[in-house]
Amino acid sequence: MSVDSAMTEAAGATAAAAAASDRERADWLRTVADALDANAVDLVTLADEETQLGETRLFGEVTRTTSQLRLFAEVVTEGSYIEAVIDHARPEATPPLPDLRRLLRPLGPVAVFAASNFPFAFSVAGGDTASALAVGCPVVVKTHPAHPELSRRTAAIVERALQGAGAPSGVFGTVEGFDSGPALVQHRATTAVAFTGSTAGGRALFDLAVGRPDPIPFYGELGSINPVVIFPAADEARGAELADGLVASMSLGAGQFCTKPGVVFVPRDSNTETAIDVEATAPPMLTPAIRAAFDRGVDELLATPGVDLIAGGRGGPLVLAADTATVIANPLLLRTEVFGAVTLLVRYDDTSLTGALECMEASLTATVHAESADDVRDIVTKLERLAGRVLFDGWPTGVAVTWSQHHGGPWPATTSQFTSVGATAVRRFLRPIAYQSAPEELLPPALQEHNPLGIPRRVDGVLEPATAGEVRS
Ligand code: NAP
Repeated sequence: MSVDSAMTEAAGATAAAAAASDRERADWLRTVADALDANAVDLVTLADEETQLGETRLFGEVTRTTSQLRLFAEVVTEGSYIEAVIDHARPEATPPLPDLRRLLRPLGPVAVFAASNFPFAFSVAGGDTASALAVGCPVVVKTHPAHPELSRRTAAIVERALQGAGAPSGVFGTVEGFDSGPALVQHRATTAVAFTGSTAGGRALFDLAVGRPDPIPFYGELGSINPVVIFPAADEARGAELADGLVASMSLGAGQFCTKPGVVFVPRDSNTETAIDVEATAPPMLTPAIRAAFDRGVDELLATPGVDLIAGGRGGPLVLAADTATVIANPLLLRTEVFGAVTLLVRYDDTSLTGALECMEASLTATVHAESADDVRDIVTKLERLAGRVLFDGWPTGVAVTWSQHHGGPWPATTSQFTSVGATAVRRFLRPIAYQSAPEELLPPALQEHNPLGIPRRVDGVLEPATAGEVRS
């Protein structure tokens, strides 16, 4: 389908999608989830042929994807996402205050860019699609060429399920091909863009989104370095275990995760470094372009004076090491993501860790491995400024899909506050509207005095819990 046809259909579905009740849209999502689960075996077989990510990982990803769909169904039926706020009129105040009522409304058609490395969870029926549909925004997905047939098959299942659940025609569509990306971002009917991919691609499309005569929000999840700091007492107590954990995390899925630990700060002469053991097997990668970019990135790292290969081989997985003086002199070593199974150990001493961390840019995650004897507070404060998720004694690969999850971070990890993971993903596709002195019969049900939906609301500054409601639609 052409971009113009898909967006015109999406525009035609906008009013009906926005008018559907939360319960109806939740039903759409649950029906899609059930249909994907029912087709999981066929979909995984196809996905494995196209991505070579392996059936175990891919079955897990289908489950994650259907869990996301069901989570967003729960988010909208719970009702607080709409942020209903009522301030009653106070004619006695100086100056007198009018009756004001505020909630969030859907933006309109959303363009979604599927990612290469999550053929289900960040693709056609992934978190962006689920969160936009959940709040009543039609979706047009630009599919990723790394899994074309899977994208078509998934789209057919999603379309059929939506139709069966009574969703308006045109509420979901897909487009293919590089040129459709910029056209989608620039189409007059597009009201927001959600993107997962490289920093360079995301930046190019972000510039198009804000360069429109009518700029629109662009929500990009981009590249990430994901620093890890191993403190001396943790290294002393469990260096071998940390080495194994690191190698498993950085080589998972051939290192093709935006949460791969890319830089690991270790004490000089660490047990962790000594225990690193990598089986270099040059795993298949998602596309020839991603393989070429990986090989190029590794060559550049190895060409930097002071960077040594300490384990593994050139095709990956591999572990490199350098001193803090080297990375402070070449800060790009701490800022350039090499997408694939490579990580750089940075050996620090008592005084050099802070200076090296100050050379870093923001990431999706930052991780601390410490024992109670380690003095971590100042470093944790620095890491909070650098990342959207701070982990203790774990590894950043693996992103739990729950209400509290935050998968984001300041630029260049993302272009915005929120991304497709976690309940706040829906906020990206909503805009606030306040009604002043509106007659009761013209107010949306969420703001009517007797709370017919029974949703949680803030009334005159006080949070009021959900009630049974009359229609709970
Ligand atoms: P990519 O090259 O940026 O491609 C993503 C999408 O953007 C594709 O549809 C691509 O189109 C399009 N695109 C790329 N450059 C463009 C440009 N200049 N103008 C218009 N469209 C453009 O990313 P990828 O190779 O699929 O994935 C690898 C990267 O994604 C890694 O850096 C990784 O860290 C990042 N990533 C991040 C996350 C996250 O959650 N933050 C998750 C997954 C991946 P075509 O493919 O048709 O060329």
